[in-house]
Amino acid sequence: MIDDMADCLICGSKGKLKEGELPGYMEPEKFQIWNCSECDASFSLPRVENTEKIYDLIYRNIDRIPNYNRYLFYADSVLKEEDPLGFLCRHEQSYYGIKKALFDSLKANRDTSILEIGCGLGYLTYALNKAGLNVRGTDISVKAITDAENRFGPFYSSKSVDELANEYGGKYDIIIMTELLEHVSDIMKFLEQVARLLKSDGKIIVTTPDKAPFSKISSWCTDLPPVHCWWLSEKSVQKIGSVLGFKTRFVNFRGFYSKNPAIIKLSSVVPEKPTFNSAGDILRNENEGALTRVKPGKKPGLKQITGERIYNLARKIYYSVRPGYTVFSRRGFSICAILYR
Ligand SMILES: [Zn+2]
Repeated sequence: MIDDMADCLICGSKGKLKEGELPGYMEPEKFQIWNCSECDASFSLPRVENTEKIYDLIYRNIDRIPNYNRYLFYADSVLKEEDPLGFLCRHEQSYYGIKKALFDSLKANRDTSILEIGCGLGYLTYALNKAGLNVRGTDISVKAITDAENRFGPFYSSKSVDELANEYGGKYDIIIMTELLEHVSDIMKFLEQVARLLKSDGKIIVTTPDKAPFSKISSWCTDLPPVHCWWLSEKSVQKIGSVLGFKTRFVNFRGFYSKNPAIIKLSSVVPEKPTFNSAGDILRNENEGALTRVKPGKKPGLKQITGERIYNLARKIYYSVRPGYTVFSRRGFSICAILYR
């Protein structure tokens, strides 16, 4: 290992080795996990630039890939929904965050020009258009974009961020990236290009998995590298913002978790296992994730007597004082940040 390879690409500080031989997303790859104490970012080494093969495998088998199969469910479901954005916000914290950031904080309207980078199957771009906004979606996966156009209509293009920055520099009021940053190896170079796409007062809204609730018990509790090559906290995202010349504020998720209670037993949080063997066969069960929620108890009567709201509140209070559990409230599975100048 060359020493300067372990510099944090976000802030330039020296990383500290946390894990020497983490399995990769595909066998037999192995990765090191490093942590930057300056900006709290965790990152994997070696850095892998060429990940097309793994994403191709993921998209070709998406209905059976843990953590990704739900995206296909969303894409299929939003077409049947009267309020597609409301549907997504009920199901996933990151979409709740995007909606809150766009409508409540940034007061976006039909005249706001918005670009979603890394739109994948395209359902969020579609749902935001249905909610009255002017949003285009883009993704480097040609297959994902072809599927999105066939399913939802002409809201999309398949371009790299470099191509976009050259073509549409200074054009957008807001850029959205949900659960994308953690996939990008050269994260700051990528974000510099993203920032070029913005008008001078433009904003970026990002979501990414929040390591804060889990970093005490695991050095890497997110998709295995090289699919996820970063694991970030609010502190890391704030540092990213300041290096790029932005201020940062975070969306509060209390409203989401009061309707979708999430209680995690920390001892049940286990590291991921590889998803593919070296031949490209899927090794994991489609429902297998690293995070197991504490299911509501087997006392159906109690919920009926107290009503759901009081029942959920009582569970939250009970587990928040019990050691070994995490109750999500203001923060949860993801961070949602608004970067503004
Ligand atoms: Zn750092």
